[in-house]
Amino acid sequence: MTAPVVRTRFAPSPTGSLHIGGLRTALWAWLFARHHGGKFILRIEDTDQKRFDPTALQTLMEALRWIGIDWDEGPEVGGEYGPYVQSERLDHYQKWAQWLVDHDHAYHCYCSSERLAQVTKDKQAAGLPPGYDRRCRFASPEERERLAAECAAEGRKPVIRLKMPLDGETRFTDLVRGEVVFENKDVQDAVILKADGFPTYHLAVVIDDHLMQISHVTRAIEWLPSAPLHVRLWQAFGWEMPQFAHLPVMLNPNGQGKMSKRKPPRDAKGNIIPVMVHDYMNGGYLPEALAIEKLEWINGVYIREQITLDDLTARLKKPLEEAGLTVDEARLRKVAPIVQTRIRTLNDVVAMAGFFFHPEFKPPTPEQVIQKKMDAASTKRALEVSLAVVEKTEPFTLDGLHAAFSELGQELGLSNSQMFGVLRVAVTGQTVSTPTFETMEILGREETLARLRTVIGLL
Ligand code: GLU
Repeated sequence: MTAPVVRTRFAPSPTGSLHIGGLRTALWAWLFARHHGGKFILRIEDTDQKRFDPTALQTLMEALRWIGIDWDEGPEVGGEYGPYVQSERLDHYQKWAQWLVDHDHAYHCYCSSERLAQVTKDKQAAGLPPGYDRRCRFASPEERERLAAECAAEGRKPVIRLKMPLDGETRFTDLVRGEVVFENKDVQDAVILKADGFPTYHLAVVIDDHLMQISHVTRAIEWLPSAPLHVRLWQAFGWEMPQFAHLPVMLNPNGQGKMSKRKPPRDAKGNIIPVMVHDYMNGGYLPEALAIEKLEWINGVYIREQITLDDLTARLKKPLEEAGLTVDEARLRKVAPIVQTRIRTLNDVVAMAGFFFHPEFKPPTPEQVIQKKMDAASTKRALEVSLAVVEKTEPFTLDGLHAAFSELGQELGLSNSQMFGVLRVAVTGQTVSTPTFETMEILGREETLARLRTVIGLL
């Protein structure tokens, strides 16, 4: 069986510059797709023509590119599921909205905006929750005909509303929040197609996520209350639902409230903290610092401080095995604590400590072992003396090795960095690796000696 293809999307509405929270949402979807070798799609949700800003699309793409987010399908790059701009896909939405009406999942609503406002007022006065009273859903056929005629006579067009079940529950499993349950009675018959023939977000998002074969919908938590409508739509169409992940809001640094453009957060000195990506671009920030670099740094902090050694050991196994190495678990348990403080991602273990699991020692080249201001002869000499020390160091432990080697460099007229550099590269076979004595202790005396002899032979 082949694994399902991961396809994620970022679906902004181009209403202005990109908000930092939007960037984070995009980054999630992009990283998830890249991690799984999937596809990342950029889709422009411009169906709210009142809020449309024609320059915003360029500004948005500029911000994404600045940070290093690329898309496999979307505006300017195309793709087989296009067009990727919703205002160019109206025929899809109109066709499927009609399909829902024909299959009794949706209905035309002829109510005027004046009537809807009156309904809201009356409900408020009666202390009832707001929302449409479903007059058009429950009207008799004759009544509907009359309402339709009245609507046409007034030069108005009807909207289409979704028929939400009146009772029962709608539930789904969110990848972030777990099982989410909604009472259907609390959910409105939302408008899905507007009088101007444009879809609302609810209809367009479901149709596009289906037609574009999105496997994981990652979006801001603000959309969670709309999720039951979407689940209902997926069910009405009889389409297989994607996985949902509703991401938490990006809070102000003081933890109070959402980061907002209207009320920008301030730092301890009272300076405004930028909220829009363009303010970072124009403010002299490096894109690396805003995203990947920072993420890697935070990841490193988590590896060091937030997970146990057992957990880390278990997690390191996969990248090593994926690099084709056979992992000796007892040895990995010893390696984990020395890489824990040095790696930023789990995969870093391969470059830094993969040599512990090579079936055979891969010696370094002479150029790699010979340190600055040294030559082959002085390097060889340092290794021969080291060999003699390793042969008799007791106990063969970190402390024992420290003690045995403490004066050696000086005796040979070498600096610490020369002495330990030679030793470390000789023993690990690498220029970037775990530290010298920790490595020697894990390898054990015999393996260390064998490696030193091999490298001495190369010099
Ligand atoms: N157009 C919506 C927004 O800008 C997209 C939400 C989603 O990702 O489904 O928030």
